[in-house]
Amino acid sequence: MISLNFNKDNNKINLKANVCSNDILKNYMDFDYFTGLCKDGCPHYNLSYTCPPNSPKFTDYTKDYDYSLVIAMYMEIDKDQTINDIHPYLRRVLSNLLIPLEKEINGLLTDGGRCRYCESCTYIDNLPCRYPDKIRFSMEAMGIDLDKVCKDILNHSIVWDNNKNSYCTVLGSVNFNDLPDDKIEKILLSLVNSI
Ligand code: SF4
Repeated sequence: MISLNFNKDNNKINLKANVCSNDILKNYMDFDYFTGLCKDGCPHYNLSYTCPPNSPKFTDYTKDYDYSLVIAMYMEIDKDQTINDIHPYLRRVLSNLLIPLEKEINGLLTDGGRCRYCESCTYIDNLPCRYPDKIRFSMEAMGIDLDKVCKDILNHSIVWDNNKNSYCTVLGSVNFNDLPDDKIEKILLSLVNSI
């Protein structure tokens, strides 16, 4: 397990990362159940190329990769803020780490939510994606139980209740093949200092 923290925009951000084989991660997938939750409860359902029902299964998306470097970023929520203030910010910070990390380790990232590359996804206008090479999916949109992954792989709890939250967590990953653990740690350390 890699555990580190860094400062950005006067915020103290914590990061936990761990390598997990995709053979193990696929046991956390219940595609119909979790995409069904999106259908029943998410206002963004079917409004993007990257949201259910348009997202692939985790097992299909990651079929060319043996491992995932699973990453959680989390930071405290001040008393005058809510999780809705912090979550979009932390997602941007996570994406800013995942994009160069994907390149560095020749991998394939899963982001912390739906694609926000464009202000408005062309899916709703029935037009092709503007940047098909940039499309990445989140683990939850591909049917993975994020809560359980976070607890089991990173020993960290995601708390979603706005009233109980004292911190906000975002989760992503980069899929890869062969790479020594010490190299991953070095790459992560250098990237968090440059994002
Ligand atoms: S790149 Fe743009 S058009 Fe393509 S999925 Fe993302 S938001 Fe939608």
